[in-house]
Amino acid sequence: MLNIDSNYHTHIWLCRHAIGDIDDYVDRAIELGYKEIGISDHVPLIDEIEKKLVTRRMTKEEYRTIYLPSLARAKKKYQGKIVLYSALEAEYFEAMHELYPQMLNEVDYLILGQHYLPLTQGRFFSVYDKMTPARLDVYAQTVTKALNTGWFTILAHPDIYLFNNPDWNAYAIKIAEQIIDACIANDVYLEMNANGIRKRSFLNPEGEIVYRYPRLEFWRLVRSKGAKVIINDDCHLVEHLHDQATLTAYQMAEAIGIKYSTRITLPTANEKENNV
Ligand SMILES: [Zn+2]
Ligand SMILES: [Zn+2]
Repeated sequence: MLNIDSNYHTHIWLCRHAIGDIDDYVDRAIELGYKEIGISDHVPLIDEIEKKLVTRRMTKEEYRTIYLPSLARAKKKYQGKIVLYSALEAEYFEAMHELYPQMLNEVDYLILGQHYLPLTQGRFFSVYDKMTPARLDVYAQTVTKALNTGWFTILAHPDIYLFNNPDWNAYAIKIAEQIIDACIANDVYLEMNANGIRKRSFLNPEGEIVYRYPRLEFWRLVRSKGAKVIINDDCHLVEHLHDQATLTAYQMAEAIGIKYSTRITLPTANEKENNV
């Protein structure tokens, strides 16, 4: 029997594309018998980047005046009932480099979710775009660079680059190898993300049913390399906690033979200190 009792990737209403507040998710997690939950809404961006991206998320002001105080309050309220962590899901952008150590001192851990990638001349592209090999390289290089900083505990949906580039060809494998190796080198969890299972599936050339992410072929490679794995809901609705997609993600990991963790190891105070 599967024993699902944790989720380290949860969004709340502040990002404007999720519904529900901290307490709604935590109450539901307790009801489900969860022992640990991490709230990890999307990081606020600096103005020069935000104005160029089509994305909805909390503002810097809301981060200070609502997000952090609400998490502090909730941690007190739920003490002894569930382990509640504060976190952020962040892209890595060079222009924000000095902000990450500061964030890491304000929340328990950071998730790298690289939804946007830098191009030259201050332009960006989305990870959901159809990508050229050169852009796939930018994805792998940006993720590697971010993980090498040591600031991130989890790499969210590492296989999201396959979303609109679904051919599992030599190039896709090369990118996968780079990302998985970067996680191993930096002791970062690769996240099997249930949110991709909530989207459309398709048949691969072998006739297997696969999701855009978590992508079967990618996770077979993860298994063969023996990297650290965590399975997360990435919920944007309370109903996503422990839904069919969550069950499917765990079943998929079991079927592939992946040894996943059900608890994360947080960065220590010392590690946070060294990073500043
Ligand atoms: Zn989101
Ligand atoms: Zn997310």
